[in-house]
Amino acid sequence: MQATKEVIFISIKIGVPRGLYYYKHFPFTEAFLTELGAEVVPSSETTKDILDKGVKYCIDDACLPVKVYHGHAHKLRNTSDYILVPRLTSVSQNEYICPKFGGLPEMVKFSVPDLPQLLDIEIDLSRSGKHLKKSLYKLGHQLNIKNPLKIKRAVDKALTAHQGFKQSLLNGNIPNRVFRGEPPQESNKKYTVGVIGHPYLIYDDFVNMKLLSKLNDWNIKYVTAEMIDPHIINERCMELSKRMFWSSAKSIIGSALYMMDNSQIDGLLIVTAFGCGIDSIAVEYVENALRRYYKKPFIVLTTDEHTGDAGYNTRLEAFKSLLDWRSENEANVPAHGRSVYSR
Ligand code: SF4
Repeated sequence: MQATKEVIFISIKIGVPRGLYYYKHFPFTEAFLTELGAEVVPSSETTKDILDKGVKYCIDDACLPVKVYHGHAHKLRNTSDYILVPRLTSVSQNEYICPKFGGLPEMVKFSVPDLPQLLDIEIDLSRSGKHLKKSLYKLGHQLNIKNPLKIKRAVDKALTAHQGFKQSLLNGNIPNRVFRGEPPQESNKKYTVGVIGHPYLIYDDFVNMKLLSKLNDWNIKYVTAEMIDPHIINERCMELSKRMFWSSAKSIIGSALYMMDNSQIDGLLIVTAFGCGIDSIAVEYVENALRRYYKKPFIVLTTDEHTGDAGYNTRLEAFKSLLDWRSENEANVPAHGRSVYSR
């Protein structure tokens, strides 16, 4: 009887949309579900068709990443028995993430047609880390796993996978390369720039129009928030006059402050989503600090579904020219005073 149940479960395919926190948590999710016996099916990399479906099935005033996520859920409708759409409220104690994540299961369920059943668990670590395990046990039960030891083993595997993934990023790699089993970018480059923004903006090659590959081709090394020790990011955020309770704003501001002061970082590239409330606070803060106190070149690239290649590339090339200009005229750049920037 027991053996029959296992055989039935092994055939379950669980779709994972390649959007939003996929770039932070996929190894965790994959390890957990695989250990429970499921086949994990991530959607393909973002394409024009996925974006178009996301725009079609999502409410108009959502930000680009949420629309893209809807497109990925749509993509999985014929290849999965279930789609995992967690309701993320908080991923860190005393912090919260964007409210859009909290409403995601309902948004997807009622907007995208013909979906299989959604697996919807809440993750809320704002009060205690214990909530994660409770939620994972609930997910196990939704999948009809009755054996608590089996779920515990899956939780342990997931935590180990997550630690390994975070360490790879701290070693200078980026999620897509880790998922493909590729080593980090070469470090011997002419310039080093900080790339600031939500992970689903800076690691989705379609959304950011291959930003990181372009930098690589231009002999520019990039540093992202995930490559910086979280303790440093926390410490830099302690400088703020008010405690930052949005996790993503904290990551953006803390990493940007660190990069501004780091003499090995030649400039900053900030990628934002049009209409994002959190960016409107965090990026505004970073821009003000850069203009008032630092002399590093920077550029803000705002993305939405209408962003075109031509204008985007022109601005990136202008940023590269600025780096070249500064490199050639370093001696003429004042050591203090008004910053040199591109906007
Ligand atoms: S933080 Fe901004 S970009 Fe991210 S989901 Fe929320 S509104 Fe969209």
